Amino acid sequence: MGEVSQSTIDAHILIVDDDAEIRDSMHEFVKLAGYSSSTAASAEEALDMLKDSNIDVVITDIMLPGMDGLDLTDRIRKRFEIDVIVMTGYSGDYSYEEAISKGASDFVFKPVRFEELLLRLRRVLKERRLTQERIHMLEKLKRLSITDGLTKLYNSRYFYNQLKIEIDRTTRYQRPLSLLLLDIDRFKEYNDQHGHLEGDKVLVRLGQVIKSCLRKMDSAYRYGGEEFTIILPETECDEAATVAERIRVAVAEESFYPEKDGPTVFISISLGVTEYEWQEEIAAFVQRADKAMYQSKQAGRNRVSCLFRSDLR
Ligand code: GH3
Ligand code: MG
Ligand code: MG
Repeated sequence: MGEVSQSTIDAHILIVDDDAEIRDSMHEFVKLAGYSSSTAASAEEALDMLKDSNIDVVITDIMLPGMDGLDLTDRIRKRFEIDVIVMTGYSGDYSYEEAISKGASDFVFKPVRFEELLLRLRRVLKERRLTQERIHMLEKLKRLSITDGLTKLYNSRYFYNQLKIEIDRTTRYQRPLSLLLLDIDRFKEYNDQHGHLEGDKVLVRLGQVIKSCLRKMDSAYRYGGEEFTIILPETECDEAATVAERIRVAVAEESFYPEKDGPTVFISISLGVTEYEWQEEIAAFVQRADKAMYQSKQAGRNRVSCLFRSDLR
């Protein structure tokens, strides 16, 4: 038997066979090969064990009392992320094709040659690891593609995606939906005085403050340079204005120290809030939030403005 390789670490194998002698000798062999091993005498017992365990691979006999190994394979593949290797005699009762079509990852003949089983097990585990790595990589890519690198909030692409989904939901169930848009006041001055890097720190902190003010169902996005949006499902305009005011105050209370030993600097934001109106275009909805924000700027900044469609007529 070869040395315990890196890929064997942490793998947990379940051996299913009604023949106690075969079961026990395989159990010993699998343990010697460096894996954790458990055993079950029937398919039913095996399924019971899988419910709350972290089994990676099941090695099962095909001929079992009660449910057979093929049925077991079928159920495992439908319910769990677990690989299955099936064992069978040369009798020809079951075919390789049948096992594979049920989702088995590999197939060995009985009497099992341990060296061969080990090779097959290692290959299954390796493919399993590669699949898991690929899934993690795809999840990471997905996360990256919807995240703003600086603030770690969602990005504007994802904003439009989610806003469409929320508008659909709102239309279907006739529920309220509000949108909040905010922009840092005189941020150009801040950058000019303290440098772009210090400006970036403001954006990062602002993202954190916004997040801390959100309710469970709300989601925040970096819409553009120093502009942020928040989608507030199940929320009418006045309630959204309350959330907006909470964010405004929280941001105004944050202190920044852009210069070493220099004075404390405060920033402010202007916010606009609006509620979705039945069957309007997504662009009209976003533009109205932007208009509301612009009203806050014109009225002197550091404030919240609400706009209804009727206000624009
Ligand atoms: P107002 O109160 O009218 O919003 O004034 P303002 O200076 O904030 O507005 P303006 O649109 O003139 O300037 C926006 C500034 O935001 C200019 C730009 O340097 C800064 N900005 C945009 N994106 C970033 C960024 O990613 N990092 C930093 N540091 N600054 C940014
Ligand atoms: Mg701006
Ligand atoms: Mg600004």
